[in-house]
Amino acid sequence: MGLKQLLLSGLLLSVIEPLCAAISIGSLPDSSMVPGGVAVVPTGTEANSGSYRDERILLADFDGEQYAIIGIPLNASIGTHQFALELADGRRELLQFSIEDKEYVEQHITITNERQVNPNADDMVRINRESAEMNRAFTSWDNSQTPVFGMRAPVQGVRSSSFGLKRFFNGQPRNPHSGMDIAADEGTPIYAPAPGVILTTGNYFFNGNTIILDHGHGLISLYCHMNTIDVVAGTVVDTGDQIGKVGQTGRVTGPHLHWSINLNNTRVDPALFLVD
Ligand SMILES: [Zn+2]
Repeated sequence: MGLKQLLLSGLLLSVIEPLCAAISIGSLPDSSMVPGGVAVVPTGTEANSGSYRDERILLADFDGEQYAIIGIPLNASIGTHQFALELADGRRELLQFSIEDKEYVEQHITITNERQVNPNADDMVRINRESAEMNRAFTSWDNSQTPVFGMRAPVQGVRSSSFGLKRFFNGQPRNPHSGMDIAADEGTPIYAPAPGVILTTGNYFFNGNTIILDHGHGLISLYCHMNTIDVVAGTVVDTGDQIGKVGQTGRVTGPHLHWSINLNNTRVDPALFLVD
């Protein structure tokens, strides 16, 4: 490629880039500015990109206005938080939002398989490898899809355990509950709650048979403890397509779906996205 073409392609890229960044969405998620919630903040401009706590954030146009849709970690401090916008003219702008307190209750669970509470050294090697794999998936960014925020419940069942519970396994404190549990009979179909592309599938120590589904722009959902997985990486799914069946693989006390929603590499409350 000659210098002229290089300059021309550079010019084209700089023209195309802002267009790529702008997506228009049909609905916004509920704004809930608490740990584990989602901050929906008008940017007052048309920024190219943004970041919060060093993670890229989702920017989308709704009803003629641009919004930052930001996942708030469960361990976020109460008070004022800042996020950054990269503007079309190259300037950087800082915006603020305020996080309020939310009290999550404790949940005590008894697990009969002691290794699932205190894994041995071999298990830890596997757990660390799987955790790195999942983190890689959660940080992927697909510009080609327009995320849909109004989601259908992925399975018909009973909400057995909600997001954010402070968890104790066999009396020992562990990470808070990073998703919503829906209990249903083994073999109950699990459906895609919104359009997306299957990012990866696998069998993990804690999560059992697992699917990670990419909805675009950092909105990524996770399905765990499945009996069967009916899709492969790269499968394009629409709302309501069957992706697998409820099971009890991994660390469970009975058959259920563990469903997580991830925004800007942050696990947030799936209930904020449910429309039915
Ligand atoms: Zn769960």
